[in-house]
Amino acid sequence: MKYTGAVCRLCRRAGVKLFLKGEKCLSPKCPLEKRPFPPGQHGPARRGRKDTEYGLRLKEKQKLRHMYMINETQLRRYFSEALSQKGVATGTALLQMLERRLDSVVYRMGFASSIKMARSLVRHGHVMVNGKHVNIPSYLLEPGDRISLDSELKSNPDVQRSLVLLEGRTAPAWLAVDTENLEGTFLRVPSREEMPLAVNEQYIVEYYSR
Ligand code: SF4
Repeated sequence: MKYTGAVCRLCRRAGVKLFLKGEKCLSPKCPLEKRPFPPGQHGPARRGRKDTEYGLRLKEKQKLRHMYMINETQLRRYFSEALSQKGVATGTALLQMLERRLDSVVYRMGFASSIKMARSLVRHGHVMVNGKHVNIPSYLLEPGDRISLDSELKSNPDVQRSLVLLEGRTAPAWLAVDTENLEGTFLRVPSREEMPLAVNEQYIVEYYSR
């Protein structure tokens, strides 16, 4: 089911920043910094309470789902595909598929300040892959694919603000980014060490393998 509540509650429930609100996530206004305990009336009392073994695995799975803003059916499908991949740990294969999604790459390249904004850019037809418009956020990129944004977005204030947020930070090693021309290349599939994800993927594998 699609979550329609306040997304900051998801971070507070997960206990980590999921970076769902762009600029706000990097500012002192982030609710997780002000209230680092689960949401709700009994949230403060639940602070520090230990999860059950099942609860831990469920929490990691939910965390991953919310990080990429995908539903349960989509995550299960990625998991089945990850299971069938040979020569790579299932958990790593799962994360690699999520990082290959077009919306994830637009976000990692810094053209959007959140996955939500990246998805909106893709859905509205502003993103091209190898010169052709692609409006499917879940489109999986292959090494060597070139991503570009419509040139009209060079003056878009939201895109400009996202690029300012990126200043001083280096792009992930598996991406080449040209911020001036709003384009880049998906160079290769990242290794686990390269993916900046505060998630225990082994718990997720165990959750789906029950
Ligand atoms: Fe999470 Fe961002 Fe909200 Fe902070 S501001 S709680 S990181 S979505």
